[in-house]
Amino acid sequence: MREPPSFLSMLTGSFASPAAENPTVAMMEAAYRHHGLDARYINCEVAPRDLGDAVRGARAMGWAGFNCSIPHKVAVLAHLDDVAPSAQIIGAVNCVVRRDGALIGENTDGLGFVRALAAVTAPAGQSMVLLGAGGAARAIAVESALAGVASITVVNRDRERGEELAALIERRTLASARFAPWHGPFLVPDETTLVVNATPVGLYPDTAARPDVDPGSLRPGMTVADVVPNPPRTAFLSDAAGRGCVTLDGLAMLVNQGVIGMRHWTGIDPDPAVMRDVLEKLFSPG
Ligand code: NDP
Repeated sequence: MREPPSFLSMLTGSFASPAAENPTVAMMEAAYRHHGLDARYINCEVAPRDLGDAVRGARAMGWAGFNCSIPHKVAVLAHLDDVAPSAQIIGAVNCVVRRDGALIGENTDGLGFVRALAAVTAPAGQSMVLLGAGGAARAIAVESALAGVASITVVNRDRERGEELAALIERRTLASARFAPWHGPFLVPDETTLVVNATPVGLYPDTAARPDVDPGSLRPGMTVADVVPNPPRTAFLSDAAGRGCVTLDGLAMLVNQGVIGMRHWTGIDPDPAVMRDVLEKLFSPG
């Protein structure tokens, strides 16, 4: 006798506001299809006041997990059963995973970056210049330090934010960290091995913009990374490549976040090429 078919899909998705422009759904559903999973990823527009109800709804409906994006990455902590150690240090959760009925908060922003970085150079021992001190910078700084990056210079316009992040790294990880104020072109120190743009400068549609860094201080052999996923080839990365730097784009970070999220939710290690391909098509001009 043939087994009756199941019409019950595994549910995952994202809670955000605004939600409509989040392309993660396209890469996740492509990966689910590629690996033959009956799973869905649903973008949900969730206002701040409704976050608690949304999480309770996901719990009640047995969702395998969900991403949290702006503005919920900190507020969601109050609705979870437990939070992974690195997400606790970062102070934000962007990926919730149901384990044995409990909702556990993870942060894949920084891990996605570290995993992408590891494909071009080993993180251990690097001397990093980090441009920006917002949510993405915080996650990248913490996970990079936990992965063995030796020193981090946090470069930011707002002093308080920058100093706070440098102090967090010194307090909670083995890496050394300092703050450098950002007014006028930043001169990347000679000993730097890794430069990361963790600001939105260069993001579509302002694609000619580049972070205010003295291009002459980018030296051959340095690794230069950008968090901006669209366009993948930012003006900053083009400048860096022209100066002989190894470059890493924001798409690699985004794809690796998807890889980690899917592993958390389904136990399957997906093919990143399938996911990248979808995003490249979405972000290609015309
Ligand atoms: P936040 O608003 O939390 O932080 C923004 C940071 O950028 C702040 O440090 C801010 O400095 C700085 N900044 C903004 N504009 C400028 C400017 N013109 N010059 C110098 N510094 C500037 O944003 P997020 O950290 O959440 O996001 C930053 C970027 O990271 C976005 O473009 C987002 O798309 C991208 N991102 C990419 C991911 C990926 O997977 N590829 C994942 C997550 C985010 P100040 O404090 O002085 O205001």
